[in-house]
Amino acid sequence: MKITVVGTGYVGLVTGACFAEIGNHVVCLDRDQERIDALQNGHLPIHEPGLLDIVLRNAHSGRLLFTSDVNLAVAHGRVQFIAVGTPAGEDGSADLQHVLAAAQAIAERMQEDRLIVNKSTVPVGTADRVRETMAAVLRARGQPASVCVVSNPEFLKEGSAVQDFVRPDRVVVGADDEQAAQSMRQLYAPFMRNRDRLIVMDVRSAEFTKYAANAMLATRISFMNELALLAEKLGADIEQVRTGMGTDPRIGTHFLYAGTGYGGSCFPKDVKALVHTAREAGQELSILQAVQAVNDRQKQVLVDKIVARFGSDLQGRRFALWGLAFKPDTDDMREAPSLTIIEQLLARGAEIAAYDPVALAQARLVLGERPGLHLVGQADAALEGADALVIVTEWKEFRSPDFAHLAATLRQPVVFDGRNLFEPADMQALGLEYHAIGRGAPL
Ligand code: NAD
Repeated sequence: MKITVVGTGYVGLVTGACFAEIGNHVVCLDRDQERIDALQNGHLPIHEPGLLDIVLRNAHSGRLLFTSDVNLAVAHGRVQFIAVGTPAGEDGSADLQHVLAAAQAIAERMQEDRLIVNKSTVPVGTADRVRETMAAVLRARGQPASVCVVSNPEFLKEGSAVQDFVRPDRVVVGADDEQAAQSMRQLYAPFMRNRDRLIVMDVRSAEFTKYAANAMLATRISFMNELALLAEKLGADIEQVRTGMGTDPRIGTHFLYAGTGYGGSCFPKDVKALVHTAREAGQELSILQAVQAVNDRQKQVLVDKIVARFGSDLQGRRFALWGLAFKPDTDDMREAPSLTIIEQLLARGAEIAAYDPVALAQARLVLGERPGLHLVGQADAALEGADALVIVTEWKEFRSPDFAHLAATLRQPVVFDGRNLFEPADMQALGLEYHAIGRGAPL
């Protein structure tokens, strides 16, 4: 099939590359010329394991083309995926300007019928808005071609996006038109060879499903974070509680980890947008409001622990910070807990030496030059002269550090672990003072 994907971010690029990999001819459009230049020169603008090989292979074979030429992109694909950003607007609603701009650009140029597939996360009713926007343009152009808009929310996870895309748990398709649903079945059939995981539903339900899924995942995280605070007060260990709970198949083990709060480009904005949508519909989503409040507080928890240990004035203190990305295996810094922690430590006068295996360049862009903040290229270098180590992201390379070296290099052998990577008893035996999340004795 001939496919166009609008937007070459985490979702658009993975979608385009994976559809090309199974034999489709894909044009990926982005309005960011730098991004397109990088892709045309064989460089990925994002860090995503396994993606570069697929991009290079398919670009080389001529099945994957990158362009900023809207005319070319609209002329190419009978199926046009929209995979542009939908950030939170000021009032918390999803900002649809990029989605509607993409739809408008397609309608202004299309000469034949087009199937519009919306992959961006968008509020219920957006497919109707896209259809109306495009129909108005087509009418004004006197263009008889028609559009059909389907919803195909994306569930991939940054860090394992390629695997998630080629081996999906499910593919949700919202289509009010059987022919459109059939096209989507054909498109995804190569990924469904051992089991059909395509779920067709009405468009509004598909749009809602994406928010419902993210809201549920965010709820699990905030639930565990809140229980972790209580576990500390009660002298219980949230890690043992987690194992005891998660083995119940009705609960399951995923997304039950206490930590420094959820971040990233999806959960914060999607929970906010759903709360906003509900309010507009005259309903308060009280659970999700609590989820947000718990998460905001959780992003402060490591700072609270540091202040409890070193005092509120951190002038003259230096901290090594491991992990800047909002989670491992990505360079995405959007809403990362590290940003809150860095702001607050700097505001209290501390110096920070921060390291991340892949997100340093993004961090430099997002944080800019800050007095007191040093971004360093090696985990060990961050430790030099630091009063304590603060672990914010659970990168694999942090899981088994050289503890003796760590204890010898830090000015004081103190570790604040926002991801519960180690056993408190082991750390104690190693002579390290260990502050984790929800583990045992109160501060
Ligand atoms: P992103 O910010 O990484 O990329 C969006 C890209 O779209 C940018 O390169 C931007 O330049 C481009 N763009 C914007 N408007 C354009 C236009 N009119 N024409 C051409 N290009 C345009 O975004 P993302 O993280 O890939 O997310 C895209 C959507 O998918 C969002 O709605 C997001 O909520 C959703 N989503 C994201 C993830 C994720 O893990 N990142 C997972 C599932 C769903």
